[in-house]
Amino acid sequence: MTKDIFAPIKSKKKGKPLYKMFIDGQWIEAKTKETFEVSNPANGKTIAHAQTATIDDARKAVKSAFDARKGLSEMYAVDRAKILKKAAELLMEHKDEFVDVIIAESGKPVSVTEGEVKAAAERLMYSSEECKDIYGEEIRGDMSPHKTDKFAMVIRQPLGTVLAITPFNYPLHIAICKIAPAFAAGNTVICKPASKNPICMIMFARMMELAGAPKGSFQLITGGGSGIGDFLVNHPNISMISFTGSTSVGKHIAQICGMKKIHLELGGKAPAIVLNDCNLDIAVKECLKGALTFSGQRCDAISRILVEKGIADDFVKSVLKEIKKWKMGDPKKKDTLIGPLIEKKAIEKVDELVQDAIHWGAKLLSGGRYEGLFYEPTVLDRVTPKMRIAWEETFGPVVTIIRVDNYEEAIKIANESDYGLDACIFTTDIDKAMDAGMRLEDGTVSINASPSHGLGLFPFGGDKDSGIGREGIRHSLLEMTKVHTVIFRKTYKPEK
Ligand code: NAP
Repeated sequence: MTKDIFAPIKSKKKGKPLYKMFIDGQWIEAKTKETFEVSNPANGKTIAHAQTATIDDARKAVKSAFDARKGLSEMYAVDRAKILKKAAELLMEHKDEFVDVIIAESGKPVSVTEGEVKAAAERLMYSSEECKDIYGEEIRGDMSPHKTDKFAMVIRQPLGTVLAITPFNYPLHIAICKIAPAFAAGNTVICKPASKNPICMIMFARMMELAGAPKGSFQLITGGGSGIGDFLVNHPNISMISFTGSTSVGKHIAQICGMKKIHLELGGKAPAIVLNDCNLDIAVKECLKGALTFSGQRCDAISRILVEKGIADDFVKSVLKEIKKWKMGDPKKKDTLIGPLIEKKAIEKVDELVQDAIHWGAKLLSGGRYEGLFYEPTVLDRVTPKMRIAWEETFGPVVTIIRVDNYEEAIKIANESDYGLDACIFTTDIDKAMDAGMRLEDGTVSINASPSHGLGLFPFGGDKDSGIGREGIRHSLLEMTKVHTVIFRKTYKPEK
């Protein structure tokens, strides 16, 4: 019989696994022994329990991370690289267990979940390579007559401790996009995953432990963000907060965190501009992929499609044909593309936005109904800017079509949003593609493709209410290190 490597991280409660937290190199229960339930959105059943950390638990984690700083920053980069590589290998070895848990705690269709686990492992591998890429620059002073005898060595140093607070929608991948570069740079890391689905990250902490992460260098704490969040965010020994989540929580963190580096990846309302000259087949398929993957529960989801009137009827006709392929059902089944939303509040919000749009004159062409947490893939045509769904984050499987007179009107509406995370345009006109690429006020503009940020190859992040800072290979590393300058004065002068 093979050994269950996850055995040390859990016990049992009411017949279900009770997961522990990984603090100071040990698997522990919350000080008060308080726990919370994690349930499966597809059927409402409790699948596990997790620890509700107290302030004392959080304090212990911060102290341990602080004590581990020196050791980790002095560890050779090549050794940090080995740990990240090993964690990636372990993750892939146990990928089926991770896939099963993510489906159960998130309701995510299996095809999307498999992609998430694979992307997370790849991101760990990229970060292990990045350990070797931490370099600065050398600056000569002889540009100035007063500094001819000086030169500076500008090096990049770890910040100290990075606090990673992560959302429910890509529970493994988003957390690893923070943890891996932070660790690669030599920072100790505390991760606080979303309470809706923390189990996959608790399991990942075991991967880091088995990969050889030194005591205190990586810790995993669970429990309500509103309970321990403020304490952690505020703590002077946290050097940086890397947060992904809603704009409201992000703004709260920014207000209370004090003198810390912050990186915020927040909400979005991605526009897709579809022009008369586009390749209709590509535009329709990409718009549906962008709007419906993981039931639209993505910050980069396409949630308003601005279609030029010359092609609007054909676009809608094709959307209605194509949307039939988006099968709703059991997320464990291979052919399911639409699973449940994460919770009741989420489904009520989506329905509220859909009903508001219908009330103000939008045409419901498909879907618009729900049962349990399953919301049908929905098409709303003739949405106008006065409807809430044109502006508020939907986070549901709704294809929202706004008909526009021309390209300039599309750019204007796209840029009027408070959000600025992602945008895309479908056109065969290179001039308009370039123009939109430059003028759309979003962190990333994709041409003839829906937004997608799986591996972090390209820098990703938002402007306006969508956040501060950029994530991605190299970019995360730059955000998670500080510039340290050493100036040399040359005192030796060779005899002439
Ligand atoms: P959320 O409600 O803001 O929660 C995100 C995280 O913040 C959770 O771990 C949560 O813990 C924690 N939290 C809550 N209150 C806190 C506080 N006072 N202090 C510190 N932490 C606190 O977001 P969500 O519903 O999980 O995720 C959906 C949102 O994330 C959407 O708005 C989406 O657009 C955004 N998102 C953005 C990106 C991006 O890259 N820009 C990517 C993915 C998602 P609890 O779960 O315990 O409350």
